Amino acid sequence: MTDYPSLHLLIGGDKLGTDGRETRDVIDPATEEVIGHLPCASKEDLDRALDHAAKGFRIWRDTPADKRAAILRKGAELIRERADDIAQILTREQGKPVAEAKGETLYAANLIEFYAGECQRIYGRTLVRPDGQSARVEYEPVGPVAAFAPWNFPSLNVARKIGGPLAAGCSVIVKPDEETPAAGLAICQAMIDAGVPGEACQVVFGVPDDISRHLLGSPVIKKLSFTGSTAVGKHLAALAAQDLKKATMELGGHGPVLVFDDMDVDHVLDKMVPTKFRNAGQVCVSPTRFIVQDSIYEQFRDGFAARAKAIEVGNGFDQDTQMGPMANARRPDAIEAMIADARDKGAKVLAGGERIGNQGFFYAPSVLADVPVEAEIMNEEPFGPVAMINRYDGEAAMLEEANRLQYGLAAYAWTNDKARRQRLAREIEAGMVALNHTAVSAVDAPFGGVKWSGYGSEDGHEGVMACMVPKTIHETL
Ligand code: NAD
Repeated sequence: MTDYPSLHLLIGGDKLGTDGRETRDVIDPATEEVIGHLPCASKEDLDRALDHAAKGFRIWRDTPADKRAAILRKGAELIRERADDIAQILTREQGKPVAEAKGETLYAANLIEFYAGECQRIYGRTLVRPDGQSARVEYEPVGPVAAFAPWNFPSLNVARKIGGPLAAGCSVIVKPDEETPAAGLAICQAMIDAGVPGEACQVVFGVPDDISRHLLGSPVIKKLSFTGSTAVGKHLAALAAQDLKKATMELGGHGPVLVFDDMDVDHVLDKMVPTKFRNAGQVCVSPTRFIVQDSIYEQFRDGFAARAKAIEVGNGFDQDTQMGPMANARRPDAIEAMIADARDKGAKVLAGGERIGNQGFFYAPSVLADVPVEAEIMNEEPFGPVAMINRYDGEAAMLEEANRLQYGLAAYAWTNDKARRQRLAREIEAGMVALNHTAVSAVDAPFGGVKWSGYGSEDGHEGVMACMVPKTIHETL
């Protein structure tokens, strides 16, 4: 097994370790063992990173697009070569099954490779003007970006945070989550080894609120990019707004899944149950509220519960494990409280509803049925291995429930009726809609939400353009 690496900041290409710095412990969520000590950046470290980011921006912006593309492509290649090691480190710090960790890391490589191509697909346009005049629109990188990535996808989230800015020609200071630092560091190290200047791709850690206030308080930083909860997102968006910084906010979700009675129930269950429990449900686009049509309700509910009970939960390194522990001690506490509240309000617990064992942050795959909409779990993102299944009597009621919340990230619907699929695609309020499909993420498609799920996109062409600003040049020739 790959050893868990020693941890450091990455500032101006230098690895700065724990010497003389405050530290935080990194915990294996399957065993609760301390596996690493993470240095926290001092104010001086952050100021150095900001100086480097300003320099790195000029160096990287002026690097020709084809060279930037070649470097990013090489970075993707290095991530692929190192994917087995990165996956083991990731499972150690985050808990998910090692095969899932490897899949995530390879996806991160694919994303960086897609972004490499985008370096050479940034176009301006010429505006028609009378003789002797010209006007053209050019796109410029916005400037140094401060990016904050969460713990649920430690390698992919960091690739998302750095990929768009680097493709656009920006420098980036990224703060991977302090609980899952090593996989993100490995992604950034691969980019530096591939030739990204150390000043253009830096990594810091610390107390999240101190780091974000320091970076967003600096005029050097021109853009905020955040993935995390809606509550923290609102706080950071307000900080960025004080200095009118551009922002991309990927926030919480509460994925509705509409299941109509023209579908084969087993087919939908085979697709959606593994999607629900992937990464122990700690996924912003996780399917969460199952909105099921009357006549198939019992079959769907009971089939879901039976499949949930059959899921093998264990250490992510065990071959048989289908679902690992939750990533930190807060998650089982939060799920337990939400399920207790739902139960008190009348929900039926058909599977799970309890922790597993007394070591590690394990929680059983859980299924709740007939859950009153007043229950907290029907309104707040559970971010855990729990599905809520309720019965509705037709399309209008199902759609109303789907759009009831302020969240609008991912939504899913299953129906064989093509005209209905078209109506749903138009009516569902979400940034991403999957129709008879489980995936809402693809490297070449924008990923992001509406309403309280945030604004701006990552991935796709939009992920690069989100890091650029237009400039119009009006000229008399
Ligand atoms: P949290 O809301 O405090 O933190 C969420 C993320 O934001 C973490 O990565 C954290 O380090 C970061 N963060 C918190 N305060 C910050 C600040 N002031 N500046 C910069 N970064 C900051 O709590 P949590 O317990 O880690 O997660 C709880 C909730 O967050 C979950 O229930 C879920 O709703 C949401 N979450 C969403 C995603 C996602 O992919 N959208 C990922 C992780 C967590």
